[in-house]
Amino acid sequence: RLAEGRALTPDVWSIYNVANLPADCINLGQGYMNFPPPKWVTEAAEQALNNVMANHYSHPKGRLRLREAIKTYYGPQLQRDLNAETEILVTSGANEGQYSVWTAFLEHNDEVILFEPFFDQYLPSVVFNGGKPVYVPLHPPKGSGKSTSNDWTIDNDELRRAVTPRTKMIVVNTPHNPVGKVFTRKELEAIAAVAEQFNLIVMSDEVYDQLVFDGKEHVRIATLPGMWDRTVTVGSAGKAFAATGWRVGWLIGPQSLIQPTLAASTRIVFCSNSPLQEAVAAGLEQVVQRNFFQIQRDEYAERRQILIDCFDQLGLPYTNPEGGYFILLDVSRVQIPDDYPFPESLQGRGFDFKAGWFLALEVGVSSIPVSEFYCPEHSKIGENFLRFAFCKDADTLRRAAERLQNVK
Ligand code: GLN
Repeated sequence: RLAEGRALTPDVWSIYNVANLPADCINLGQGYMNFPPPKWVTEAAEQALNNVMANHYSHPKGRLRLREAIKTYYGPQLQRDLNAETEILVTSGANEGQYSVWTAFLEHNDEVILFEPFFDQYLPSVVFNGGKPVYVPLHPPKGSGKSTSNDWTIDNDELRRAVTPRTKMIVVNTPHNPVGKVFTRKELEAIAAVAEQFNLIVMSDEVYDQLVFDGKEHVRIATLPGMWDRTVTVGSAGKAFAATGWRVGWLIGPQSLIQPTLAASTRIVFCSNSPLQEAVAAGLEQVVQRNFFQIQRDEYAERRQILIDCFDQLGLPYTNPEGGYFILLDVSRVQIPDDYPFPESLQGRGFDFKAGWFLALEVGVSSIPVSEFYCPEHSKIGENFLRFAFCKDADTLRRAAERLQNVK
């Protein structure tokens, strides 16, 4: 099981950790910010640390104030009056929330459909819980010119054919990591139709929900007709408030899906980080009045533009993301000397792992190899791409863009 889940192979985040790269390398690898959470959120965190009871275990469901804040903010978006007692679960980051859903619902050899490429954590998490990932491709754009994340497409017949009597769940990730795809209403309707027809649970990972650009609409599959009852929607304070190390996330769904997940989560972590739940609550309570998500979205659109301009100048094909904070760059034309000294950890890894390492050391900008977002059998498809994160301040991105002009 562990080997199947890649747990015995070093994970990409550890290999490309800044600790393994030169100190002056600009880190556009793992997706975390180099700027702080908003001041009014960190101030709420400081206050929470001075509140004795906020330093102790919260209810395993999450602190009431945060569940209420999630209800108030997300209720209208999900077009429901959410029940903060039975339909919301605060988790230790989105990862733990998803893990707990799988612990609660997967029986041995139950199949979970993942659109490939997929956020790498899904694979080991499904396998550790006895499940079997089944892959449906997101087809990359044809041709070698410019493309947007919308050009990565799913084939509904392929999705339908992937369903077997053992299929339990479909994972949707919109905006998508690493592609940046924002699934359209039509695409989600097609997925919903399959979920309905075969009575499947949908896990909708929407951790980048506040980062959708170009006037695109973030559609929540839970709002499509009939879908509330079979969907768990996943959210993340780390992405919403530039606080990825806080490990606070949440799940929203019907009682039938949230209550078994609560039972699992209680036995895995008992509860999530208590004082920072207070701070996240304060954050969500104020976002509307401060227009925070819109301001943040505009900042991210500017950050994205810095890398887009850089890649345009460079003349290498890339996928312009409509959401999230990653850009895929096609690096298949990058030339690496045959005798380049790669570390042991890259032995047996694909071209993208080598290209990423080479660029980190020689150009001074790190990224994440995209083959890691494919299962081992399909990893070749991802080998042409590196993923660059733009969740960094504009100065850092400009410096990175200058360095990247040296890519040959
Ligand atoms: N979601 C982040 C990324 O894709 C962090 C990955 C992680 O959880 N290790 O970069």
